[in-house]
Amino acid sequence: MRAVDIIIKKRDRQELSEGEIRYFVEGFTRGDIPDYQAAAWAMAVLLNGMTTQETTYLTLAMAQSGKILDLSSAVRLAVDKHSTGGVGDKTTLVVEPVVAACGLPVGKMSGRGLGFSGGTLDKLESIPGCRVNLSMDEFLDQLKNEGLVLIGQNDDLAPADGKFYALRDVTGTVQSIPLIASSIMSKKLAAGAQAILLDVKVGLGAFMQTLEEARQLARLMVDIASLANRKATALISDMHQPLGQAVGNSLEVCEAIETLHGGGPDDFREHCLMVSAHLLILGEFARDENHGLELARRALDGGKAWEKFRALVRAQGGDLTVIDNPNLLPKAQFVEEVFSPGSGWLSQVNAKEVGETSVLLGAGRAKKGDPIDHSVGIIVHHKVGEKVSTGTPLFSIHANRKDLLPAAKEKLLSGVKVSPEPVEPLPLFYDVIR
Ligand code: URA
Repeated sequence: MRAVDIIIKKRDRQELSEGEIRYFVEGFTRGDIPDYQAAAWAMAVLLNGMTTQETTYLTLAMAQSGKILDLSSAVRLAVDKHSTGGVGDKTTLVVEPVVAACGLPVGKMSGRGLGFSGGTLDKLESIPGCRVNLSMDEFLDQLKNEGLVLIGQNDDLAPADGKFYALRDVTGTVQSIPLIASSIMSKKLAAGAQAILLDVKVGLGAFMQTLEEARQLARLMVDIASLANRKATALISDMHQPLGQAVGNSLEVCEAIETLHGGGPDDFREHCLMVSAHLLILGEFARDENHGLELARRALDGGKAWEKFRALVRAQGGDLTVIDNPNLLPKAQFVEEVFSPGSGWLSQVNAKEVGETSVLLGAGRAKKGDPIDHSVGIIVHHKVGEKVSTGTPLFSIHANRKDLLPAAKEKLLSGVKVSPEPVEPLPLFYDVIR
């Protein structure tokens, strides 16, 4: 077999066999197939697509390029959740404790923030002392003993994806639905997931900008799971505007804590309840959505989810006095309001502009490995559909550098639109794909 023939076959819109896909993935991972051939192949896939069967072969080959975890010593059924990334998405910090409080253990490997999209690990590290670099033995022990654990992505898992992703990033081949689906699903399979809840975001602050693209990605990932003998459900959720009010690491932890105490912004709470309900269904703890919602509500409002969150932080070395008194979380020096430029109904609060503003303030990183400031970020006071007047505070900027405030204000306002006519609020979810 020759790499060039596989590239030509995909260039000519033919379906690749399992053997050809495996040859290409293994050769590239070992370094036998050079970057220029892998780039040409990725571009051919981007332009000509792949069938669901080809995408499943690609997913399995990438998953099998490294270790595959076996969580059966710690859990009866390994469930996992994955969000395709967004702004203000601190869902894992609430959902993991909720489902663990319902009796469903969940061990999760999360990522760091990159670009305008935040990452759960950075949020958790706002809590002084909280460790996310546990060993695999520590991961399994904590999963068995506490029923929940949250750590960083293990570099031994799906190494082919790491290599392909770095190449796609610099060759204009990120935006391919089969490549995104196989990238996400290979990591989930390698992490040992048997049942996967996918939270596919759609909107201005998401990878997928249209509902049609989000549905295609969701359907493909659910079908891959099924062909790979795993269960999956995909929720398609809104990311035109930020989720909840807080954007930025310690601000988001604070909002997650409020939510775990039964409060928090309505949209964020509802989002977490729905994600938890579907995880509980996948984990065979709930019969249907209503039953799952009822169990999740009870765990949140009865304080059990909060106790689980404390157990998670305690087990990972975090300072409990800080989460018991969130005023002690890292705090920015300056808080500055941004006011509405007009009167009417908000028709846009652009999640991407808000996310990029938080990066500008130092909450995120432009490239892998950059340091971040846990204390800075933005509070979003109003959402699409709400009535505002000239001078209504729309955002509070939490900053440590005064010189950044004018650019931050301008950027936030560039994402705001006020309509003279009433505007419907945005839905939280658009679809459920099973
Ligand atoms: N997230 C991933 O893990 N991979 C992609 O290709 C895109 C988003």
